[in-house]
Amino acid sequence: MSRPQLRISSRQFRANIESVRDRIAPSALMLVVKDDAYGHGLSWVVEVAESVGVEWFGSYDVRSALDVRRVAGGAVRVFAWATSTDTEIDDALVQGVDLGVGTAEYLGRIIARAAALGVIARVHLKIDTGLHRNGVLREDWDDVVADARAAEVAGLLEIVGVWSHIAEASDAEDDEAQAVFLDAVRVVDDAGSAPAWQHLTASAASWWRPELRGTLSRIGAFCYGVRSADGPELDGIRPIASLVASVKAIVEGEAVVDIGSFDGLPSTLAGSPVGTPGGARELRRIDHTSSVVQGWPGMAAGDEVHLFGAGAHGEVSATTLAERIDTVGEEILTRLSVRVRRVVVD
Ligand SMILES: *Cc1c(COP(=O)(O)O)cnc(C)c1O
Repeated sequence: MSRPQLRISSRQFRANIESVRDRIAPSALMLVVKDDAYGHGLSWVVEVAESVGVEWFGSYDVRSALDVRRVAGGAVRVFAWATSTDTEIDDALVQGVDLGVGTAEYLGRIIARAAALGVIARVHLKIDTGLHRNGVLREDWDDVVADARAAEVAGLLEIVGVWSHIAEASDAEDDEAQAVFLDAVRVVDDAGSAPAWQHLTASAASWWRPELRGTLSRIGAFCYGVRSADGPELDGIRPIASLVASVKAIVEGEAVVDIGSFDGLPSTLAGSPVGTPGGARELRRIDHTSSVVQGWPGMAAGDEVHLFGAGAHGEVSATTLAERIDTVGEEILTRLSVRVRRVVVD
């Protein structure tokens, strides 16, 4: 093996999607594919998800939304919620990408571009439910809804959804956010629009708080088998990726492995367990371009070390590693450099 590999299992990815869909039904799954599908590779992820009937993809920005469209074709819905330039809006409108709208200014630009291009924009209006991350404030909501509704009546846009994002940090805060959210939905209904899609929850709340789920759930982490930091294991959900590097030398009874901090492995992970042909061993040190692992009987150059994965060789999950350094599993995955080859194994 010439370079470290992120080995990805389509079989496990499909199984996770199935578990998530069973759990959240009748809420529909929007698979979130931001950050190159959490480091797994957007094209592969979209291909597999589409093959098992995933109908919604959440991309964050318009550029990756267009990538989803290229891979999945015209039948799926793609949702991009980053506030975008007029050029990006044009691309999104032409390619039938749904846009998340969190400001009156952005709504105005989308309406103007739809009018200029002669197409109908599909928008999901975002109410700020407390996170203060790009959502319309409650005091501005009625005006924004009125503007959107007027444009809808004029044939320039369709209000497809109402959405927000919640902290998933405490049940009480999430309950308050939901109350604001439902009130915002009521305003849209009262204005005469009837958007089919309401979405508030990501992985954790979709899984654990059924009463918060809307008709759609935006889920990334759990589909990729990444559980919440400090959260429990999940029924039917397993990591889909394992990070593997090979031994390049044996030095004083320890294995020198071909992966280092330049490949995205945080040096603060020293002391973590990793998987080896001899079972779990200690990751002793992480240098720039290599790492040092405690030895095992019969170790040899070319042996494979599993830095994280589903546990078959004694390794722990990306989330368990992340907890050691106070971060989340997604962070471990998305930091991996391009030197780490993404390889689909089954
Ligand atoms: C990342 C993200 C999600 C998905 O979160 P997970 O916890 O990975 O499921 C959903 N909605 C928004 C707005 C996000 O940024």
